This record gives sequence, structure tokens and C-alpha cells, in this order.
Amino acid sequence: MNITACLDMAGCPNRCRHCWLGATPNGSLTPDDLQFVAAEFRPFAENLEIFSWYREPDYRDDYKALWELERQLSDVKTPHFENVSIWRTVRDADYAPWLRDLGVKYAQLTVFGGETTTDWYFGRRGAFAELNRTVDILLEHGIAPRIQTFVSKRNIGELPIIERWIDDAALEQRCADIGREFQYFLHQGSCDGENAQFYGDWVTPAELEKIPPKLAAFALKHWRADSLADIFGRTETELYRELADDESTASFVSNDVTFYIDKDFNVYPNIETPSPAWYLGNLKTDGAESVINAYNHSVSIAQNARLTVPLGDMIRLCGDRTSQRLFLKSDYIMYILNKYCEVRFAGSI
Ligand code: SF4
Repeated sequence: MNITACLDMAGCPNRCRHCWLGATPNGSLTPDDLQFVAAEFRPFAENLEIFSWYREPDYRDDYKALWELERQLSDVKTPHFENVSIWRTVRDADYAPWLRDLGVKYAQLTVFGGETTTDWYFGRRGAFAELNRTVDILLEHGIAPRIQTFVSKRNIGELPIIERWIDDAALEQRCADIGREFQYFLHQGSCDGENAQFYGDWVTPAELEKIPPKLAAFALKHWRADSLADIFGRTETELYRELADDESTASFVSNDVTFYIDKDFNVYPNIETPSPAWYLGNLKTDGAESVINAYNHSVSIAQNARLTVPLGDMIRLCGDRTSQRLFLKSDYIMYILNKYCEVRFAGSI
């Protein structure tokens, strides 16, 4: 089994309202805790990879030492992801050069609209200003911003503001100046974690007409899509009709597994939001063998439901046959599964 274990050592400075990882309290774990996680999984891993985060990367002041420790503890040494910390970029002059020296070429950053809207979505004032400063700092160090927007009915009307922001900051030209192509994309995200609160404001075909042509063109290129329908999917009505009589069940078990371990050492598979329906056990009290067995035997409420309950039963119980909300089919199935767990196991999760 190839195991990736991600320990949420410090959490995140933001409280993004769309965060699929959930808004849970930040912890303050130690390098010894990371060593403990590695030692627990080591006997069961053909290949092991260890991360000291699964929310904000490089949030802790000892991020460089943790990067080295992760690599010592890991067989697989993935290059630094294109996820970076805007919080650290504006506070730590060593950070952008460090990212550059690690070979980071693009950094994925999120904007939700103008300043007020972006701050609101990030869950803290000043985030938009930090985002702007981060773009400048990264470009100064040869790293191109890749900008994304999560859209719902709440903010899709602000896309023209984002288009102006891109133009005013001359992002296309400044990326070209460092030898990179500017990239932008948008989507609705998956309807899970914090983002599930936007189900009521979910985009429908009518909203797609509000997407400015220039941003639509960027997004089509990014997703290698022919149309916005390829990015946003089909209406819930269509998906409901297709899936209401679907008798299939499915297993999520794979030989390549990523475990998320929260600050209290509760373990979840990286399939959906780390949340009670996906709970596999506690690394301290149950140990890695028990957690892996729980995963392999689909013991969590959500894994078990998907394995044993025909999809159509869940759709008929939790879907809305009249809804025009747009979903990719795979995201819709996961939305329904989470909903089903909420409805069926309301008292126990
Ligand atoms: S989306 Fe990322 S930055 Fe925002 S709260 Fe979640 S983990 Fe933190």
C-alpha cells in the first residue's frame, strides 16, 4: 500500500467560506508528533509520504525545518505544490525566494471579487490586500500567479471586477515578462465542507451568462473544455433523472491512499471533507493498523453507505428533481452521499 499521511499541525490563518477542508480550530503540534505519525504508518507502507499540513502550507514559522523533516520521513519526495501561503508571503521576506529556489513556477491564488467580497470569503479583513501584495512579491521572484475564482450566485456578478483587476495589474504582461503564461480559471467547487452552505446560491445555467467572455476564454483553456457546460456540468434535474434508478454501489478503497490526520489525531481518508461521516479512528488510541483496516473495510459511515446503499436510493431521498443547480456528475454523487449521511445518521455524527 502506498500511504500519504498529512498531519494538520497548525491549521490555517484563514476561514474561507468555501473551504472543503472545514473550519476546525487550529492546533499547535510538534515535530515529534509528525515523527509519531510517520512511525505509525511506516510498517504498513510500501511507499510512505509525510506532510506537516493539509490546510495552509508553510503556515508555521519553522516551515523550512518541517519541509526537511517531511523529506527525511518520506520515501516519495513530491516537489513543493503550487499551493502557497499568502499569509506568509507578505510577512516573511525569505519565503518567496525559498519557494523560487525549490523550483516553484506557479502559485495558485484565489480571488472572489472586489476587496469587500474577497475579505468576506477569506473570513478575515486584509486578505485582499495581502493577495495583491503576494502577486507582486511572487512575480518579483519569477513565480506566476494562477488565479482561480469559486463562483456562486453571491459573487458571480463581481466577475467584471476581477477582469478589471487582472487588466489593471497587467497580469498577462507581467507573467509574459518572466516567461510564463498568465492563467485564470473559475468553477463552482464541490458542494461539501464549508462550500455546502452555498447550495442555496448555487449557479444555474442563467448565471453562466454573467461570465465575461475574456474570463470564460481563460477558463476554457485552463480546463481544456469546449464549453462552460463542460466546466459546470449539468442541472440537478438532469442528474436526478439519470441517477434516480441507478442501482450501483461503489468502493473508495485504493492501494494509493492519503490520510488526513487532524490536530487531535483523528484520521479521515482524503476522499471528502475530513468530517465525522468519514472518520476512520484515532491514531493515538486506535493505532495505524486499526485505521488502515477501517479504511480497507469501508467502516466509516460514508464509505459504508456508498458501498451498500444503491445510488438511486440516496438520490431519491436527498436529491431535488426540480433544481437547476449545476454539478459535475462525480461532485453531485458526493454531494448526495454526504447529504444522505447527514439525513440517515443525524443523531450519530
Ligand atoms: S480554503 Fe485553504 S486557505 Fe482557505 S480556510 Fe481552507 S485551507 Fe485555509
